[in-house]
Amino acid sequence: MPFDLVPSVCPHDCPSACALEVERIDGRRIGRVRGASAQSYTQGVVCAKVARYAERQHHPARLSRPLRRVGEKGVGEAAFSPISWEDALDEVAEQLTRATQCHGSETVWPYFYGGTMGLVQRDGIHRLRHAMRYSREHLSICNMLSDAGWLAGVGVKRGVDGREMGKSDLIVVWGGNPVSTQVNVMTHIATARKERDAKLVVVDPYRTASAEQADLHLAPLPGTDGALACAVMHVLFREGYADRAYMERYTDDPDGLEAHLAMRDPGWAARITGLSENEIVGFARLYGRTRRSYIRVGYGFSRSRNGAAQLFAVTCLPAVTGAWAHEGGGALYSNHGLVTIDRSLIEGLDLFDPGTRILDQSRIGPVLTGDPRDIGDGPPVTALFIQNTNPMVVAPESGLALRGFQRPDLFVCVHEQFMTETAAMADIVLPATTFLEHDDLYTAGGHTYLQIARAVLPPHGECRSNHEVVCGLAERLGARHPGFAMSAIELIDRTLHLSGLPDIEGFPEGGWLDCCPPFATGHFLDGSAHADKKFHFRADWRALGREHAQLPSFPDHVAVIDEGGPEQPFRLVAAPSRSFLNTSFNNTPSSVAREGRPTALVHPEVLEGLRLGDGDRIRVGNRRGSVVVHARGFDGMQRRVVIVEGLWPNHAFEEGIGINLLTSADPGQPRGGAVFHDTSVWLGPA
Ligand code: SF4
Repeated sequence: MPFDLVPSVCPHDCPSACALEVERIDGRRIGRVRGASAQSYTQGVVCAKVARYAERQHHPARLSRPLRRVGEKGVGEAAFSPISWEDALDEVAEQLTRATQCHGSETVWPYFYGGTMGLVQRDGIHRLRHAMRYSREHLSICNMLSDAGWLAGVGVKRGVDGREMGKSDLIVVWGGNPVSTQVNVMTHIATARKERDAKLVVVDPYRTASAEQADLHLAPLPGTDGALACAVMHVLFREGYADRAYMERYTDDPDGLEAHLAMRDPGWAARITGLSENEIVGFARLYGRTRRSYIRVGYGFSRSRNGAAQLFAVTCLPAVTGAWAHEGGGALYSNHGLVTIDRSLIEGLDLFDPGTRILDQSRIGPVLTGDPRDIGDGPPVTALFIQNTNPMVVAPESGLALRGFQRPDLFVCVHEQFMTETAAMADIVLPATTFLEHDDLYTAGGHTYLQIARAVLPPHGECRSNHEVVCGLAERLGARHPGFAMSAIELIDRTLHLSGLPDIEGFPEGGWLDCCPPFATGHFLDGSAHADKKFHFRADWRALGREHAQLPSFPDHVAVIDEGGPEQPFRLVAAPSRSFLNTSFNNTPSSVAREGRPTALVHPEVLEGLRLGDGDRIRVGNRRGSVVVHARGFDGMQRRVVIVEGLWPNHAFEEGIGINLLTSADPGQPRGGAVFHDTSVWLGPA
């Protein structure tokens, strides 16, 4: 079938932000989606789930009309009737106004997250929030802990260009599984292996698909990576791998660090991590003797009560060896702070009132059930307007989220692409465009490009973009801001201009602007972002969050994790799967077929002790509840570790609620952050 190739950008919550080439057929449908070969990070490669995006884009279950719920909450489309856009927006505005009249404006909570990562369509909800003085949202569910850990040492959210992995002699993938979740990292690692015979080390509590490809896999117990990093640094100092001249020039207190680490030897770390001393020393020597060593820092090991401290400890490694100074050396966590974007027009920051309350998105369950730690003496949340997220499944402690959404006095509007579990609890559901149907501007975590993508297709059915819906509500609510009168592309153009960047006219062909800094800046050779220009071995946690009392200055193992005990001896990691991305793609046929069914990976000896075998039903539980999944024996981890991959729809579980029933809404330290991989559980036959 004839098609034209149209450029775009993957909007999903993934650091790669791939530059795409989309086959457009007859102007109304898409065929295959490919990576753009001319964009030097994407290099023509995308993950399988996005290559098959036509399944999602043209899915028969796409929402196409506004809906009003006329039946029970939680039933799905059968409980809704179609209404017009005018009636739907009128009703939402009326309900938000009524709630405000009863309880004050903070009773309304606009709630969003990274279902799309484009700045206009994702963040425009803030403009409405600020204009109306609605409750703010503490964006804690993904990168709060990892940001804090990175900023403690480096001081700014950027790192060494990901393309430099191709020039490394040792790549350490720490707490991530790029084969499944960030395929482009593997492209650059493959270059280094082919051209330089580089080694790959993966640090992850279980043998992931990435670990399968590694020369060395270290599988510490969840929540103990900080101890591993400290012992590695102990060996680096003890055996002469520390670059003292580099540290003298570029770091704040190398002598203090060395003295602090004196007691944190491999024996100490072995007892905490469950690794052997030989494994720790072997890795330390490999890392220490390789100048061009590049740590690709993932998010996984930050999803723990001590996650910020763990990530901080890992960032100290290249500062001890001086790897930052070498091409192909250093570390990267995220480049989202690389380009300074003036967000005032998109987010309505000129209307921002710091006096409005802020509620923690990861604690939506406690918030909606009136937990005094969240609500205090403020009004209850009685109205939610939700875009780009599915908290009924993705939020921790989802039993509480369910109870909250069931409240009869809670008005909910959800703007979505599918009838998600959250949409099924709404009073009004509005159909949303996909990234192929609207314009947006994208930064990236994994690379250095700023990218613009224009709509490829007309909207499906009556779908409207997030920007259009926010503007439609603003008009009805009487919210005033110039951004409400602009199109998405006008917002992009003006934002680029305000940011001192090339505007639409001046943007490079293809829509990719490479913002890679010069080598010395990219490698922090002209100083880190701290006032003293040094990398900090002594973290100033007080400056990063209020809950700092238990966080030591120097890198360490911080024993605040959910260790469990005789009642809950196992440590659950609710890891991402290859074919889903949060809850996106968990309804596309090929993704579901590949993932199979909710499954617990359990060490074979543990399984045998429970008198269970492969494929048997197993109950995984803790004090928050329990779920039934199928077991699979897997020896790629320590005996205490249990893995359940993928955010399956709730209906995929026998009892209708998913894995986040078990995870905690406790905030990580020092400033909150979801602790998805810090969960003790028991196991038993179902
Ligand atoms: S690898 Fe990530 S950014 Fe690239 S296409 Fe897949 S989900 Fe999108």
